[in-house]
Amino acid sequence: MYADVILPLPLSDRFTYAIPAEMVNKIGEGFRVVVPFGSRKYYTGIITRIHREAPGITGIREIHSLIDSHPVVNEQQLTLWEWISFYYLAPLGDVYKAALPSSMKPEDLLRKFTPHTEIFLQINPSLDQQTMIRMAGRAKKQQALADEIGSYLTANHTGSVSKKVVSGFSSYSASVLNGLLQKEILTAFPVETSRLETIITPTHEPFPLNDHQHQALTGIRESFDNKETVLLHGVTSSGKTEIYIHLIQQYLAEGKQTLYLLPEIALTTQHTERLKAVFGNRLGIYHSRINDNERAEIWQKMLSDQPYEIIMGVRSSLFLPYQHLGLVIVDEEHEASYKQQDPAPRYHARDTAIMLARFFGAKTLLGSATPSVETYYNAQTGKYGLVTLTARYNGLKMPVIRLENSRELRRKKKMKTLLAPALIEQIGAALENGEQAILFRNRRGFAPLIECKQCGWVPKCRRCDVSLTYHKKSSKLVCHYCNSSYRLPAECPSCHEKSLVPLGLGTEQLEEEVSHLFPGSVVARMDMDSTRSKDAYEQIITGFQEKRIQILVGTQMLSKGLDFDNVRVVGIISADSLLNYPDFRSHERGFQLMTQAAGRAGRKNRQGTVIIQCTDPGQPVFAYVRNNDYEAFFRAQLSERKLFHYPPFYRLIRIVLKHKQEQKAEAAAASLAGMLRESLYERTLGPNKPIVSRIQLYHIREILLKLENGLSPQRVRDILKKTEVRLRSFPEWKYVTLYYDVDPL
Ligand code: ADP
Ligand code: ZN
Ligand code: ZN
Repeated sequence: MYADVILPLPLSDRFTYAIPAEMVNKIGEGFRVVVPFGSRKYYTGIITRIHREAPGITGIREIHSLIDSHPVVNEQQLTLWEWISFYYLAPLGDVYKAALPSSMKPEDLLRKFTPHTEIFLQINPSLDQQTMIRMAGRAKKQQALADEIGSYLTANHTGSVSKKVVSGFSSYSASVLNGLLQKEILTAFPVETSRLETIITPTHEPFPLNDHQHQALTGIRESFDNKETVLLHGVTSSGKTEIYIHLIQQYLAEGKQTLYLLPEIALTTQHTERLKAVFGNRLGIYHSRINDNERAEIWQKMLSDQPYEIIMGVRSSLFLPYQHLGLVIVDEEHEASYKQQDPAPRYHARDTAIMLARFFGAKTLLGSATPSVETYYNAQTGKYGLVTLTARYNGLKMPVIRLENSRELRRKKKMKTLLAPALIEQIGAALENGEQAILFRNRRGFAPLIECKQCGWVPKCRRCDVSLTYHKKSSKLVCHYCNSSYRLPAECPSCHEKSLVPLGLGTEQLEEEVSHLFPGSVVARMDMDSTRSKDAYEQIITGFQEKRIQILVGTQMLSKGLDFDNVRVVGIISADSLLNYPDFRSHERGFQLMTQAAGRAGRKNRQGTVIIQCTDPGQPVFAYVRNNDYEAFFRAQLSERKLFHYPPFYRLIRIVLKHKQEQKAEAAAASLAGMLRESLYERTLGPNKPIVSRIQLYHIREILLKLENGLSPQRVRDILKKTEVRLRSFPEWKYVTLYYDVDPL
């Protein structure tokens, strides 16, 4: 008997091994096995098929050992992996690597994760209540604690309680507990617990929905009768999350699991609390800040007969072993962070979620205030259902949006700081009233550039073709592409003058300036630099929620789906920079970012204000944002997309080639493009030199394929694979790195 095994290697999709006789009856699809590879390596792999077809080669090796007594990956998961590998042109081994927590696929043999132990307390079983009370004697405090433990045990029908729980009792103190242990009224013992078993009791039922929400919920359910996927297009703060909660509850009642996807960890913090309050322990959280052992535990729990009924997480939670998935929610479906950039598989979590749901016969709900052009197009053409929510919850008004022309203001000498006078005034008024402000700037660091005033020298990264960003607090120059950091030179290395000046504006500088402008208030910054530590997000968000922070400065991280109730002013600084990328999506991004950022403004009984600082207020996108006119924005985008052959009318595949020698990258790309033109003709564009054409010492060239919708992905895949093999048959291109980015963002 033979087994086909997926290994974490890009060489081939499956490897065949012989099954040792004693293993034959214990093995099956979805089991993990350890197999030898090469001269001395062992890998953990997953069995995809068991068969009798002897491979036509000699030297077939045997499976070394079996890890599982039951499958850890189910049929739908394997189908999903295959689909990702096929559609995103990624090796199956890379999909497997992305899917399974690392501790479940050790590369050196079977290192198991360390179980977690907790101390549990028990009332000495040989004591009865009377003796116990007598023994505690005059120690009133000990008696109180013993009583409290006793009532807890009775109330919960249990014999023991964890020390952690007891430490929350009103009569608890460490010395009182020690007293009880010394008198042997209590005994303590360690228990291997799952890290997941902290009991969280729901605190309330879902809030009743208002009429708009109720209609939307009914609309979604009706739409699901004949559509697999439905878009909920609801303005910011229309109460989409509450609708999700009601929908989840309905699926729970039908015994179905829900996957609730969010684009970023920053968001899970806030949403977790809202869902925990309703669903308690039925909810599991899965994202990259959760350590690997805990991920492995969640995986095992999902396989058990008491799996989580709801999973909330970021894109990797698509890979968990669901048993009876009924609903997938993709919140903020337009977010670019749903697309995996590096490494492979470069999958889009929204589109993959729709496939996952299909494999389970489940439904997908996409939610957004600013849907992606692709999704809205699908909703317009009837491929998806569409439900719209135009009122904010509780009669909250949409904010007033004002444009401030910063170039004009500077010319007239009316703007002396980074903030327009109108914005300063608004923030001042908000602070006076105990209200808050959010300022948004899409560049981190202090200044995106340093320049020598004398000779024009600009520091660049040694490994990448980009200039370095100045970080003032750490006094470093940092490459935002490879993270290398450099000391800030005291003088210009080229002309030896002390004439280096920062140019441009980053969040760090904005934070500094705002602190100077409003010395009496607490200013915090939220960007990739300030949220590196584990709990940083949470601390900043909670600090702002609890009004310990008055002004929050940050990057786009701040613009997404966060719900604050006391923000009067939102400022968007240098809004033009959102639009000036040479990318067909830059206006879509700009529209989404500004609308979402604006959505953070507003509080009960008071309309919020949004001030957009820009240098070219005539750009049509500003008018769409200001009038909150998604439809007009969409129509304009759609006709451009059609005209210039972009999605949703064409499918894009970006082919990336890299080599340390520029000439090799260049020539390999030219050669590949030539070969592709033989079968794909004018659909092949390039090769191009990207704006950042060297990263981490590798020179980069790109080819773009524009494929009309009718062209079958299977045919394109075949052509690409054949062409790749042909390219590799030339020895000079053997070591050129090549990868595909399907539906690039
Ligand atoms: P969205 O997800 O559309 O931005 P949210 O669901 O976050 O909107 O709702 C905005 C605010 O209104 C939140 O603070 C939420 O708790 C509150 N809210 C929405 N719907 C209800 C409801 N039915 N009952 C009570 N509060 C609600
Ligand atoms: Zn670099
Ligand atoms: Zn100089």
